[in-house]
Amino acid sequence: MAKSKASTNPLMDAIVAVCKRRGFIFQSSEIYGGYNGFFDFGPLGVELKKNIKDAWWKDMVHRREDIEGLDSSIIMSPKIWVASGHVGGFSDPMVDCKVSKMRYRADQLFFAPVIVDGEKIGYVSILEDGNMQADAEAAAEKMKRKGGHQGELAPIELKDYTEADESEWALIPSPATGEPGSLTAPREFNLMFETKVGALSDSSATAYLRPETAQGIFANYKNVVDTGRVKIPFGIAQIGKAFRNEITPKNFIFRSREFEQMEIEYFISPDCDWSEIHQEWIKYCHDWLISIGLPEEMLGRDVHEKLAHYAKACTDITFQFPFGEQELWGIAARGDFDLTQHAEHSGKPMEIFDEAAKKKYIPHVIEPSLGVDRLLLALLTAAYTEDEVGGEKRTVMKFHPRIAPYKVAVLPLLKNKPELVERARAIYDKLAKRYNVFWDTAGAIGKRYRRQDEAGTPYCVTIDFETIETDGSVTLRDRDTTEQKRVSEEELYKFLDEQLF
Ligand code: ATP
Repeated sequence: MAKSKASTNPLMDAIVAVCKRRGFIFQSSEIYGGYNGFFDFGPLGVELKKNIKDAWWKDMVHRREDIEGLDSSIIMSPKIWVASGHVGGFSDPMVDCKVSKMRYRADQLFFAPVIVDGEKIGYVSILEDGNMQADAEAAAEKMKRKGGHQGELAPIELKDYTEADESEWALIPSPATGEPGSLTAPREFNLMFETKVGALSDSSATAYLRPETAQGIFANYKNVVDTGRVKIPFGIAQIGKAFRNEITPKNFIFRSREFEQMEIEYFISPDCDWSEIHQEWIKYCHDWLISIGLPEEMLGRDVHEKLAHYAKACTDITFQFPFGEQELWGIAARGDFDLTQHAEHSGKPMEIFDEAAKKKYIPHVIEPSLGVDRLLLALLTAAYTEDEVGGEKRTVMKFHPRIAPYKVAVLPLLKNKPELVERARAIYDKLAKRYNVFWDTAGAIGKRYRRQDEAGTPYCVTIDFETIETDGSVTLRDRDTTEQKRVSEEELYKFLDEQLF
């Protein structure tokens, strides 16, 4: 990692703080000082994550007749990763600092010559971030001043380290030491984690933790075709862990080394208009994100111009993260590259017989690929709100009810009045059969509301003396408006049913 500098991102800091304070996300191995690129999900985080995955599965698999589910193993035959091209080419360019032993992604390390009155006086380097242009200009100004150079500083034109000439490698300062001469040439670094399988420890035992779930789908495509009743076009969906030895994991859970993916391979006829289906998927994914609570104005598109040799097109749905607009969901048209590769490497036919067209072919695919953790960070960003209630500041996580960890909290007004607690408990028991419900008796009612606001619970139900002494009605409080209304128990169940399904 680069020398840590004070964070300049208050929103990101606030989100990280609320995640820790309320038990959404913890650093992995925190008691041992943490482990870079790995995270643990606490009681609220695990619910949030599960709700995201359940919503995706319900909408992509259960509610669509043309998509089937799959759960393949994380470690598969290494031959799969040779065929897919990952052993040969799943890499990022990296550069080492020989003095500090720091390692950087070469395409995230930027540099520029510092030129005063046409004369090169040295180089500045900087790690990629939103302020890098301004920081590089300040560093160049400082170099000029320190060296006692008079004259005009030429504009600083940053390039990444992969674009450096061989002659420049020794002149570019290491971001760790600030001195030139210690950076190596850029080298390709394979991102797959290696492990050993079985009792032998030679190279024949080498296997990989999957860097994507997609290849498990391709490897099982024939099984699904032969055992299911699928017909073109159809999709196979999978949710599962993926592992990448990212050179510089960063931005909290945005880029980590262990994460989860939700991927679909959607198989189509080679004769159809793939571009139209690709566009339909982009729109479908975009609308789905809005349906679970991401505001449309925070979403964007990035149409790739530089494509992998096998890809026909790739569009990312982007999101305005606190650190800038970044890829959230990649939707690629991959042609028949993967199935053809597996047919060649395994010797097994990958054709499907298309009944409607009376034709045999290897289908083409559209691949929507989404990171659970990245989506979770987007949902946290969109939900995080600070406002004022009754002159008091509050933090409220405005999660869509479908995603919220707890759907409703049941709160007896006073914990030392058995008749209140009993009645509240009866309501809690009924609700808990249907939803994840929080039970809280501790502290003043206002404090308990605040706790639920921060946890993102959309509704609170308070049981007070009016409930037990008069008409049996309860107070239903809305998280976002803080409005409270009295409703009968029957009305409460009906209302929650309508809102939460
Ligand atoms: P990037 O360019 O950000 O490294 P990528 O284009 O390599 O990502 P894909 O291989 O297309 O990513 O992965 C599909 C999805 O998986 C991404 O859109 C993202 O949501 C998620 N993802 C990929 N890498 C990571 C990671 N290191 N941490 C968290 N999520 C990730």
